Amino acid sequence: MDCIFCQIVNKKRKAEIIFENNKVMVFEDIKPIAPVHLLIVPKEHIASINDITSDQKELIGELFLAAKKMAGKKKIKQSGYRLIFNIGPDAGQTVDHLHLHLIGGKKLLWA
Ligand code: AMP
Ligand code: ZN
Repeated sequence: MDCIFCQIVNKKRKAEIIFENNKVMVFEDIKPIAPVHLLIVPKEHIASINDITSDQKELIGELFLAAKKMAGKKKIKQSGYRLIFNIGPDAGQTVDHLHLHLIGGKKLLWA
């Protein structure tokens, strides 16, 4: 398995894991762009939003529930934060395992 996020999920590669349950894992981004920068991933390998199916609706919901929980844990629920999926080359997706970026802890600029 050469997917780096599958390796993290399977504990074959080190990461700063913040939270996990049976469906999702949350870990610190290795190159944070803000004081809070977490990656929320499904434990199941899905390459991107282009690959989700209707039977994964609940799993996708789990990503957002984990995001809300982590915003609370990092104390940025009230100050605000951004949730981003990068999909494909124009968005700069570099890891082909679905991941939701949770970014905050400072005033964020809008491109
Ligand atoms: P994206 O550009 O949306 O595909 O985002 C991939 C993110 O994964 C980037 O923000 C990277 O810094 C991050 N990343 C890459 N490898 C690792 C790793 N081993 N542990 C944690 N984050 C990583
Ligand atoms: Zn994977």
